[in-house]
Amino acid sequence: MRRAVFLDRDGVINRSIRHEEKPYSPSSHEELVILPGVLEALTDLAAGDYCLIVVTNQPDVARGKISQSLVDSMNDRLRFELPLNAIYTCFHDDMDQCECRKPCPGLLIKAADKFEIDLTASYMIGDRWRDIEAGRRAGCKTFFVDYGYAEKQPENYDFCVGSLLEAARIILQ
Ligand SMILES: [Mg+2]
Ligand SMILES: [Zn+2]
Repeated sequence: MRRAVFLDRDGVINRSIRHEEKPYSPSSHEELVILPGVLEALTDLAAGDYCLIVVTNQPDVARGKISQSLVDSMNDRLRFELPLNAIYTCFHDDMDQCECRKPCPGLLIKAADKFEIDLTASYMIGDRWRDIEAGRRAGCKTFFVDYGYAEKQPENYDFCVGSLLEAARIILQ
């Protein structure tokens, strides 16, 4: 069984688009900008034998604001530029009542099955309450990257950090 670091995408890997202190997903390749320190953090975690899996909610697809193929091609770019093992995406919205939209742990469980991951020895890193809750429900330790968004705050996370790099240092120490 391997250990994994599950990573939220927007706000953890790439910059979120902020509007009135709330985060939004990039809607074009131009808006998809990898955050500073991310390549270093992922390279170190991969060297520490962690499986690196992005788990991302992209409800703008269900809302008709962006095409699934554009989200897929943005994800392809991230997989090309970063040492990621996989990207799992939920394209649904709440009304779809799927099992993959965080805070449901479906994406983590699916990845754990495929990559033979021990969830209790793994971590989830995210910048919103849905990420923390999904990680907690999957049995992972959780990192909250706190940007001070004006929205519902997560509860019961294990660590609060300012960046993925800071989380990686704690995981690897
Ligand atoms: Mg996010
Ligand atoms: Zn879903």
